[in-house]
Amino acid sequence: MTGRLDHVGVAVRSASQRLPFYRDLLGLPLAKTEEVPGEQVRVTILGEGAGRVELLEPTAEDSPVGRFLRERGEGIHHLCFLVDSLEATCELLKAAGYRLAGGIRSGSEGTLIAFLHPKDVGGVLIELREVKGMRP
Ligand code: ZN
Repeated sequence: MTGRLDHVGVAVRSASQRLPFYRDLLGLPLAKTEEVPGEQVRVTILGEGAGRVELLEPTAEDSPVGRFLRERGEGIHHLCFLVDSLEATCELLKAAGYRLAGGIRSGSEGTLIAFLHPKDVGGVLIELREVKGMRP
């Protein structure tokens, strides 16, 4: 298993409002902005390689990130770890008693992702992302 941190997802009401901090003051290059229709979210990716920051802006009020903002306000939404095989890792985790929040699905940049239920992981929403098909 690879198991290294890929990115941190941050829920924001407006990416353009938060962009100057990350891009202009911290100097993280703006990699891309992409809509993920399945998650009803617009993703702004900053930085390169491991440790990127994903600004998550909901495209619908009643979406996972929209509900997160309503209940908790802006802030850290999830941590994403890279794994070699998403299916094998999910099977391993399910056998160990962890629940997936939804199933394996398409995330940003055309990769496969899955989320673990935060109640099983000490309140942290964990995204798992398959290395396969990713840019090196
Ligand atoms: Zn993410």
